[in-house]
Amino acid sequence: MTKVKTQSLQKKGSDLAQSNRQLEILSNGIFQNGELPTFKAKISETNQFPLKAKKLEILQINVGYMCNQVCDHCHVDAGPDRKEIMTRETMKQCLEVIKTSGPHTLDLTGGAPEMNPDFRWFVEEAAKVGIKDFIVRSNLTIIRANKKFYDLPEFFKKHNVHVVSSMPHWTRGKTDKQRGEGV
Ligand code: SF4
Repeated sequence: MTKVKTQSLQKKGSDLAQSNRQLEILSNGIFQNGELPTFKAKISETNQFPLKAKKLEILQINVGYMCNQVCDHCHVDAGPDRKEIMTRETMKQCLEVIKTSGPHTLDLTGGAPEMNPDFRWFVEEAAKVGIKDFIVRSNLTIIRANKKFYDLPEFFKKHNVHVVSSMPHWTRGKTDKQRGEGV
């Protein structure tokens, strides 16, 4: 049985949830003395700034911050209390982008992308407008988090969805410490 933490940094009122504060920490921290190059400086060295895509092949979309977990390392501060999720209206605009720019792969991330109530609709519609391959960044625990997600493996199989998941460590103790007990 998974027992995870339940509050995002935002919910706890932590200033680390503010992007201004994150940028301030970075600029006053490891990048301050110039010892570590910034991304911009590094790609400028090879005359690749500003980076420009030659062609759109893989479209990655974040469909919301809602997640059943609250991992210590989460870079979007996702959690059950984060209600910011992509609306179906915005997804329709994404479908227009797919139609006009023709990527072959749609890479869905979050939060737990499967928690967006329009997740399955979006996959089905994207397949109709030409997406051949799907990637879902899944935390895997979502599949057992609620009965309504139990059939996700069948849905993934039916729609050629590749599930990409990661663990912070191969040992149970270290993974649970970072992502929640039982993960
Ligand atoms: S499972 Fe992923 S999205 Fe959810 S809290 Fe953990 S790192 Fe963030």
